[in-house]
Amino acid sequence: MEVLVTGGAGYIGSHVVRELMKTPYDIVVIDNLQKGHREAVLAGEFYRCDLADRQKLDEIFSDHDIGAVIHLAADSLVGESMENPQKYYQNNLTAGLNLLEIMLEHNVMKMVFSSTAAVYGSPDNIPIEESDTAKPASPYGRSKLFYEEILADFDNAYGLGFVSLRYFNACGADYEAGIGEDHDPETHLIPLVLKTALRQRDKLKIFGTDYKTRDGTCIRDYIHVSDLARAHILALEKLEEEGESSIYNLGSGDGFSVKEVIEAAREVTGREIEAEPAERRPGDPPVLIASSEKIRKELGWEREYKDLKNIIETAWRWHSSNPEGYGESKTGKEI
Ligand code: UDP
Repeated sequence: MEVLVTGGAGYIGSHVVRELMKTPYDIVVIDNLQKGHREAVLAGEFYRCDLADRQKLDEIFSDHDIGAVIHLAADSLVGESMENPQKYYQNNLTAGLNLLEIMLEHNVMKMVFSSTAAVYGSPDNIPIEESDTAKPASPYGRSKLFYEEILADFDNAYGLGFVSLRYFNACGADYEAGIGEDHDPETHLIPLVLKTALRQRDKLKIFGTDYKTRDGTCIRDYIHVSDLARAHILALEKLEEEGESSIYNLGSGDGFSVKEVIEAAREVTGREIEAEPAERRPGDPPVLIASSEKIRKELGWEREYKDLKNIIETAWRWHSSNPEGYGESKTGKEI
C-alpha cells in the first residue's frame, strides 16, 4: 500500500517518513517546502506541491495507488496565528479541505491527522484526557479542532476513517539518520536553548516567571519526535484493520518547567546557557501535560525515550553537528 505523507519535509513529517521506512508501506511525500527541507525526506517519491493546488494533487492521486494519507502539512505557530488568522484558516482549513475532496474523489478513505495540544487551550484538568473539553485559545488551535470536527462529519457521512493525534511538545532528533529540527525562525524552547549553548544566540528569554507553578515558569510535556512518529504507524495499522475513528493525545505524562529544561540542557551540553526572565508570551497556558493512557491501552504505544536528558542529548547531537541546520539548499528544487 502507498501512504501519502503531506508535510513530509517538516520536522515531524520527516521523522514520520523515517519510521515508515521501517515498514512495508511505500511512501509518497508532498510538501510545498515553505518551511520544510527537501534533504530531510529520506525516502519515497517526493512532490513539491501545495495543498491549494487541486490539479496537482489530483495528478498525484491519479499516478499512485494511495491507500491512506498522513496529513501533517499545516502552519503551526500559536503566536503567528493570533496575528494572522487568515493564513491559518486558509492553509489549515481551506487547503486541508482540498485534500479531503481529492481523497473522496479517489476513494481514499483513511487519514492520520496531525493535531495538537493547542486544541485544549488552558485546560481545567491535568493530565489532560481526550474526553476533556477542547477550548482552543488561538486560531491555530481552532483550525486543528475544526478540522477534527470536519473529519468526524466526513466519517459519519462518507465513512472516512481517521485517527487524530494531538501532539504535545515534540523534541529531539533522529540524528543517526541525519534528521532533526530546523525552523526559521526558531521559536521552540529546546532548539533555542541549544542554540544558546552553541553561542548562536546570546541569551535565552524565559517567557514568564510568575506562573503558579513549582518554579514560576511554564510546564510542558516533552516527547521525542521518533516516539511521536511511531504512533502514526500504529494509527495506520488501526485504520487498516478498519478500526473506529479516534482521537489520541501524544505526550509523556510528565511535565518539565522552562527552568528545568534549561538546567537539563546545561548538564547534557556541559556549557553555560545564559537565561533571563522576560514577559509572558501571549496565549501560553501555565501547564500542559497529557494523559497518553488511551493510546497506550488501545494501540499499545510505548515511549522509547523516557528521560528528558536523553531526549535533549539527541537534539544536541543534531544541532552541534548541523549548526546551520539543513544549510543553504533548504528551499530545495521543484521535482
Ligand atoms: N519558552 C521560553 N522561551 C523561549 C521559547 C519558549 O520561555 O525562547 C517557553 C514557552 O513560553 C513555553 C515553553 O517554553 O512555556 C515551550 O514553548 P515552545 O514554543 O517550545 O512550545 P509550545 O508549548 O508553545 O508549543
